Parts: sequence; structure tokens; C-alpha cells
Amino acid sequence: MATIYLDNQATTPLAPEVFDAMLPWLKENFGNPHSAHVFGRQAAAAVEVAREQVAALLPENGRVIFTGSATEAINLAFGAVRNMAPRGRDQIAIVDTEHAAVRDTALWYGTQGFDTKLLPVDRQGLVKMEDLEACFGPKTALVGAMLVNNEIGVVQPVEQIAALAHAHGALMLCDAVQGFGRIAIPEQADLIALSGHKIYGPKGIGALWVRDGIDLPPLIHGGGQEQGVRSGTLSPSLCAGLGRAAKICAERRDEDMIHIINLSETARSLFGDWAVNGSLDQRYPGNLNIRRDGLDVARLMSDTRGVAFSAGSACASGSGRPSHVLAALGLEPARIKSSIRLGFGRYNSVEEVEQAAHLINQAAEQQLS
Ligand code: PLP
Repeated sequence: MATIYLDNQATTPLAPEVFDAMLPWLKENFGNPHSAHVFGRQAAAAVEVAREQVAALLPENGRVIFTGSATEAINLAFGAVRNMAPRGRDQIAIVDTEHAAVRDTALWYGTQGFDTKLLPVDRQGLVKMEDLEACFGPKTALVGAMLVNNEIGVVQPVEQIAALAHAHGALMLCDAVQGFGRIAIPEQADLIALSGHKIYGPKGIGALWVRDGIDLPPLIHGGGQEQGVRSGTLSPSLCAGLGRAAKICAERRDEDMIHIINLSETARSLFGDWAVNGSLDQRYPGNLNIRRDGLDVARLMSDTRGVAFSAGSACASGSGRPSHVLAALGLEPARIKSSIRLGFGRYNSVEEVEQAAHLINQAAEQQLS
């Protein structure tokens, strides 16, 4: 029996059309996009088409910079604070439940003379706007808030957070990795990070959208590629793959969402004995983080090898650290350990979700009886 893949927050399968779009740039069209001859010009043109395809899903007044991952895009974005510190802005405020790519970067800046604040969330995993007011001030340089949480799927009020950041003269960075191509992107954000492998595109490529007028110091020095901030020869194949993946997301957005909602409702009804971690209504439906008291999730996973899903408590960044997200919700350690995360995607069927729910519930019942 084939394993049912329900871990679409960790990564998504490559869309077949994306594979087709990438192939020519790995075979006959192998030119260096930075060369002046015809091979180079063809490759450069493919990169620019891809850039436009990605930009089409982002606000109008900015530029797209290709990177090797969303983590790299986020590290590049944080460089903005180095330009702001000489003006007396040396505070960074991020939501406590951010992905490690943002959280650890912010904490690292905290060791480099910046004052890093973690903004609390409530039991639903959402920030309270009234709490934020008190956290921002004239020294705030950058506010980081993700669009969709990778562990619990909750959707933060990013547009309001961006407006509040601006009211205090700060920039707003939105890690949109889990929401890009699916739900509305915050028009007011100044810096937006995304990743290829979460939208049925290739691994090894991400992008940072930067609002016009914002200068970033280079993250990688060298030949000056990617607008002087990220040197290194671009991969036209990866760019073409990300571009095509973004284009498909745009074309199929409604269809994909209806499908995901259908899968999610099927799962919610079949996991009725489980409690949901995080807000029930402010959420992206492709993510279901649930728990059953008393469950040993490691044992459940080994008893349910026919389904690929995540332990809800395992930090999805792959660090192996326990989840800071579930802890930030105020969940007791035993409940954190009894949580699992299911991630539904475009290529899952209702039958797969039913089959997976049957296997997981059966193993859970056996364990708890
Ligand atoms: N941010 C979020 C919310 C994520 O889910 C991930 C990946 O798990 C990342 C950032 C990092 O993305 P990448 O793998 O492209 O570095």
C-alpha cells in the first residue's frame, strides 16, 4: 500500500507542469543567464519571465529578488535593520510563534546590539492588536509577522500589524511562505518572503519582495547578481520552476481553495474526538494541528506508517527542537506531545484523507484503550 502524503506544510510535491517548465533549462538551454551571448540572453529572458510570474502575486510597487530559500530571503530582509540602526532604530519585534527562519534570525540580531522583542499570542495563537500598541515605539525598526503559521495554520492580522508598524515608522516583514499563492498577501507589508517548495515548485529557490525605496545591504558579496544584494549565478531552471508554480497557483487559486476546504471539512468531521490547536476560524484550512490527551505520538507514527504526517510538537523547521509555537499557546507539555499535524494539498483526494483518518484513529483507539 502506498503511503498517503499528508505533510504539505513541510513540503509539497512538484507540479508536473513545473517539472516540464524546468527541464529545458537543465538540458539544451544551459546558458549562464549573466552571459551576453545568445545562450545567456535566452536564459536571462526565462529568469525575467519567472520574476514577472512571481511578482504578479505580490503588491505592485516593489521588486522580486530570487534567493536560494525563504530562509535566505528572510536573512536578506533583516539586513534592512542595519541601515536603520544609525538613525536610532535598533528594536526588532516579531511574533513569538514565527518560524525559526525569522525567530532565530531576530534572536541572533539580539546578540549583535539590537533589542529583540517577542510579541505574545493568545491561546488561539493570534496576536492581540491592543498588546502590540504597547510593544512598538520610536526605536522600532522592524516588525515580523507571518501570514499563515506553519505549525498550527492560524492566519495573523498581518495587514493591521503592518499599518501599526508604519504608524511607528517601522518596516514590516511578512513571512508569507505558507500563504503565498493561496490567500491574500498583505498589501502594506514592506518585505515579503516566499519559498518554491511550498507551492508545488522546486526546492532550493525562494524570493524576497522588497517595497520600492527600501535599500538592503548585500547578503552575499561577489559578482553583483540579483540587484547587487545576492551574488552568485542564478539557476534559470529553478527560477522557471518557481515562476510556473506561482502562475499555476494564480490560475487555480479558487479551485485549489475549494478542494482544500473540502479535504479539511472531511478531516474535521473524521477527527471529531480530537481537539484542534489554534484558532478555529482564523486559519488556513490546509493545516490541521490536533491532539488527543494521553496519546504517545511517536508510537502513533510508528503504528501508522501508511500515512506521512508530522508530530505536532516537532518544530517543522527540521531542527528537532520541541515546538515553541504550541508552548506559546500555553499548552501543557503533555498536550504538546500528544499533538499531530496534518497538511492537505492540491494532489490529495478525499479518499486519501478518509483512509488516513481511519488508520490514525484506529491506532489511537488501540493505544488509548
Ligand atoms: N517560513 C515558514 C513559515 C516555513 O514554513 C518555512 C519552511 O518550512 C520557511 C520559512 C523556510 O523556508 P525554506 O525551506 O524555503 O527556507
